[in-house]
Amino acid sequence: MIDYSGLYARMEQTRLAGWRETLPGQVAAALADGKHGRLPQWRTILNNLPTVAPSQLNLHDGVMVGQPDDLTAEQLAQMESHLRQLHPWRKGPFDLFGLHIDTEWRSDWKWDRLKGGIADLDGRIVLDVGCGNGYHCWRMAGAGAKLVIGLDPYLLYVAQYQAIRYFVGEGVPAYVLPLGVEQLPDKLATFETVFSMGVLYHRRSPMDHLITLRDALCPGGELVLETLIIEGEAGHVLVPEGRYAQMRNVWFIPSVPTLLGWLRKCGFVEEKLLDVTPTTIKEQRSTEWMTFKSLPDFLDKEDASLTVEGYPAPVRAIVVAKRP
Ligand code: SAH
Repeated sequence: MIDYSGLYARMEQTRLAGWRETLPGQVAAALADGKHGRLPQWRTILNNLPTVAPSQLNLHDGVMVGQPDDLTAEQLAQMESHLRQLHPWRKGPFDLFGLHIDTEWRSDWKWDRLKGGIADLDGRIVLDVGCGNGYHCWRMAGAGAKLVIGLDPYLLYVAQYQAIRYFVGEGVPAYVLPLGVEQLPDKLATFETVFSMGVLYHRRSPMDHLITLRDALCPGGELVLETLIIEGEAGHVLVPEGRYAQMRNVWFIPSVPTLLGWLRKCGFVEEKLLDVTPTTIKEQRSTEWMTFKSLPDFLDKEDASLTVEGYPAPVRAIVVAKRP
């Protein structure tokens, strides 16, 4: 059921043909028995999803697959109970045959903020590093991308992707691989757009991350980078000592001028700020599909402009830049 042969076939038609040789081995190693204790359970869930052909598919206005009439009440209940076992659903929302998966994040809002400011994805080969369950990968395909490859090493998110893929069908060229960015072959210089969203502040070495992204781009290709930022001038950067908004692995949060300087230093040109938006408790919150704690619990109860640790509350920026 976890099958990337459609991707491999598509890669053969592109300059990614070289990677196609080594990729099946990388995927097999990532999904080997014992890589995650719950992997066998996730495989069972994926193997038991109801057989159903969606009568419609809309990846342009959201991720909307099928309509209620496409399946029986029994199939719907079966689908819902299987999908609930893939908790926590962080990125979305998804609409599957009338079932609304209300995820922790309104990932569609991030998409709405960037879609008008980036180069047209029509016909492009796209990489999405740290793509989570692939929500934005589907939207990229919906915007006309010829091939979208998402990378995320967290196997639950890959299982969620596979569940959505099962219902979407093989026709849509969006794939989430169970790999980390470190496993991307060096200097592919192939992707026409590379997305890195919600990842930079998790990297211990943000410059190396930017250089990796640059080297994956073809000359003239576009980076779309989304990350946490702080207020401040060039040179300002927050390096939280402990947690930040309860996240353990947050290393560098730059100001916008600092971030744009990092991009220039790493060889990007035409760097441009598209958007700055504070993350609200409407955009990130606990839901029925993500019952753990969320942003409202990570902000100071008395002063929502601060995290529980006393740092500035999360604000995110989207920037674009080009590889010369
Ligand atoms: N891009 C999505 C998800 C951001 S969350 C969005 O903007 O909504 C960050 C993601 O990065 C998580 O899904 C996490 O599993 C993934 N991640 C963590 N380490 C990674 C690595 N080494 N390579 C690629 N992705 C990684």
